[in-house]
Amino acid sequence: MAIDSNFEQNREKVGEEDGVAVWGPVEPPEKQGIRGTHVAVDFDICLADGACLEDCPVDVFEWVDTPGHPESERKASPVDEDQCIDCMLCVDVCPVDAIDVDPGRENRI
Ligand code: SF4
Repeated sequence: MAIDSNFEQNREKVGEEDGVAVWGPVEPPEKQGIRGTHVAVDFDICLADGACLEDCPVDVFEWVDTPGHPESERKASPVDEDQCIDCMLCVDVCPVDAIDVDPGRENRI
């Protein structure tokens, strides 16, 4: 299952972590929610492949630890999403479609 590209309508923002929005539900360690708004990563789908970290030309992503999560014990967090140039490389390389990039999303919230 891919990330819900309408998550800002279908989920609630429950907080922030390292300056990145957290969209629930969050029930650690099994449920980690979606992180980010312009660049959004569904932590519950992410399996820590790492292609987004390697390929992003402006280094938007950093690893964060999620011990005990069933898919992977670390996730690619879009900590520098304000640097994103909308090249869509991360969306294309993610093997599980965990990432959605939409520069207009922030203006719709
Ligand atoms: S769309 Fe491009 S610049 Fe933006 S986070 Fe993805 S790889 Fe990085």
